[in-house]
Amino acid sequence: MKFSSNSIAEVISIGDELTSGQRLDTNTQWLSQKLNDLGINVGYHTTVADDLDRQTRALQIAANRAELVLITGGLGPTQDDLTREAIANAAGVALVTDQQALAHIESIFARNGRPMSLANKKQALYPVGGSTIHNEEGTAPGVKFCFGQNDESGHQCLLFAAPGVPYEMKKMWTEQIEPEIGGLLDGQSVIRHRVLRCFGIGESSAESKMPHLIARDRSPRVGITASYATISFRITATAETEFDCEKQIEETAGFIRETLGEIVFGDGDVNLQTVTANLLASAGQSVAFVDFQFGGAAALLLRSAGVDKVCPSSIAMDQVQPHQWLDPESDSDSSQHDPDVTLVRAADRIRCMMGTTIGIAIGNLHTGDLDQQHTEYRAAVCFSENQSSVEKFSRAGHSEMRDTRCAKQVVDFLRRCLLNR
Ligand code: AMP
Ligand code: MG
Repeated sequence: MKFSSNSIAEVISIGDELTSGQRLDTNTQWLSQKLNDLGINVGYHTTVADDLDRQTRALQIAANRAELVLITGGLGPTQDDLTREAIANAAGVALVTDQQALAHIESIFARNGRPMSLANKKQALYPVGGSTIHNEEGTAPGVKFCFGQNDESGHQCLLFAAPGVPYEMKKMWTEQIEPEIGGLLDGQSVIRHRVLRCFGIGESSAESKMPHLIARDRSPRVGITASYATISFRITATAETEFDCEKQIEETAGFIRETLGEIVFGDGDVNLQTVTANLLASAGQSVAFVDFQFGGAAALLLRSAGVDKVCPSSIAMDQVQPHQWLDPESDSDSSQHDPDVTLVRAADRIRCMMGTTIGIAIGNLHTGDLDQQHTEYRAAVCFSENQSSVEKFSRAGHSEMRDTRCAKQVVDFLRRCLLNR
């Protein structure tokens, strides 16, 4: 059998510790990336408990809908390790012993000076018509089996089962499974991904600006995901060459950048704070914050980028009004003060005090009510006495994310100010 660009793979992970949520399924993530690297699209991820009937059914479904199935887990010697039985059941064949595999398992026990239990013998079993895959690292050989070899429909599905222990699985993949799959690739198929990161737009408004972008039949495929107020466009191209993939991706990325402008802050494995810190560093700028609202969250976020010296100082003063900080003699009533003018003055003051090139002041001069769910706040970015900008933001959303989003809003505001200088 051969794999083409139309072939679909399914990755199945097995274990109660996974379905109960006690352990994270990292094997599936790793294997899916490896399959993509080979140019094979993964259509399904399935996680099944240590239960023979459920595994058998999951395998029957997988064998019908995928051309390639990779299973990890359930190859151990104990009663909850049922992957071999499930494969045999799903295929309707018996299990037989691979004498060579048995000898290898025995040799591992002899080498370690331990008696081999009867249970370990079952690890040398494989379904008739298939074979074992040698496991140098441990006592669990893998299993290879092809479903549908005599099927009238012509649909075939090649299955590889590897141990659940991540390092054993990886070694078996690299040394045995991957080379075998590599030899079955029909023509060349390359898959490449790129991620564009955006801040300042919601998923649905991004989609409404580019209604055809996310269409499922579009090539390259684009998906949108949101995480902590940042949205990501994930572009996936499948083509015959890497060059063709990159060309497709470049066109789509260009379209997104053109449509969204400076909302796109970077691509790949970057975050907003690092992009902003790098902009500051390359422009030889540094920034100090005075924060009357969020306890210094925006300054901390920028500092977390780890670019030394771009944010040397910050002051957080949640209990003080900006105009009182500027003039301690003034009364506490902020309604007498123009919020924009006051914040710009505060930003300029912190800039001069700390000797940085930029000052930022963050404050809520509108309502003063921090408990209110939907409240506004403002930030002023000041480059000099005569050059500053103020922007108004809403402090909305779930409490778990609200202040993270606000910190990002301010850092993003700084980024846009730097770009537009
Ligand atoms: P098993 O082969 O099912 O007995 O699994 C052996 C070990 O590998 C256990 O510690 C599992 O928690 C771990 N393991 C099994 N499957 C996975 C998986 N999909 N991702 C990460 N670890 C796993
Ligand atoms: Mg297990």
